Formats: sequence, structure tokens, C-alpha cells
Amino acid sequence: MRPLAYIALGSNLGDRDQLLARARSALAALPRSRVVAESSVEETAPVGEVPQGLYLNQMVALETELSPRELLAELQRIEQEAGRVRTLHWGPRTLDLDIVRFGDQHVHEPDLVIPHPQLSHRDWWQRELAELGATE
Ligand code: ADP
Ligand code: MG
Repeated sequence: MRPLAYIALGSNLGDRDQLLARARSALAALPRSRVVAESSVEETAPVGEVPQGLYLNQMVALETELSPRELLAELQRIEQEAGRVRTLHWGPRTLDLDIVRFGDQHVHEPDLVIPHPQLSHRDWWQRELAELGATE
């Protein structure tokens, strides 16, 4: 069976609802991939020291034949198309797409770590995974 990737969507700049909707469409259009579930959308307070607006978050389960690295490249393209500008670390952004889990795969590379190292610190990700029925 093809692995299920869990992708966290986040936005706290601009029309957040529309940015998440466009991100869902872009994920649905990915090659060799199929969106199989979407969590509810949740508003959360920003993490870190940078003062910024509230985030809208959502988790999408994607069945995919892409490799983790191919998926990361596609997510970064989608972020850029959403007008994302990288400024402050953990600063405000139109769209953030993180690979939270990728099947049972573990990746430890300088620019790609799976499962996402922040998973244990982000209770909303854990809630969204539970809502989607993600099991260990
Ligand atoms: P953050 O998501 O931590 O707020 P960014 O979205 O700017 O910050 O991502 C910084 C870098 O994190 C990306 O360039 C990417 O290479 C790296 N990265 C490492 N692991 C992951 C992952 N599991 N999902 C998404 N990006 C990741
Ligand atoms: Mg990110």
C-alpha cells in the first residue's frame, strides 16, 4: 500500500481561509498522490518570540508515491506560489506546509526530519492526527 503522509497546513497572514483552501487544492493536484482525509480547521496562538497574528491550522492525509524529498519540494513550491516570503524564523507567513509524518518512515537529513521534531510540542497537530485516525 502507498504510504500516508500527514501534512500540516498553517497560515497567519492575509486571507487565511482562502490560503488554506488553495493549499488543499494544490495538494489534491499533486502527481501520483491522492488526498484521503482532511481534519477540521483550528485557530491557534503563534509559537515563539515573534509577535504575530493567530494561525489557522489543518492536517491533510495524502496517499502518495512521491518520496519524502519529492514531497518536500512540491510543498515548498506551493508555499512560494502562495506568496510566502521567508523572513523571521517562526515569523508570520501566508502559508506553512510541514510534513508531520510519512508512513512509518524516518528521515534525518539537514533539511528534512520526519517525523517532524515539533510533533511532541504541538498539541493541535496531535489532535488533528487523532481526528484523522492516524495510528502509531
Ligand atoms: P518552520 O516550519 O519550522 O516554521 P520553515 O517552514 O521556514 O520553518 O522551514 C524551514 C526548513 O525546515 C525548510 O526549509 C525545510 O527544509 C525544513 N524541514 C525539515 N524537516 C521538515 C519537515 N518535516 N517538513 C517541512 N519542512 C522541513
Ligand atoms: Mg515549515
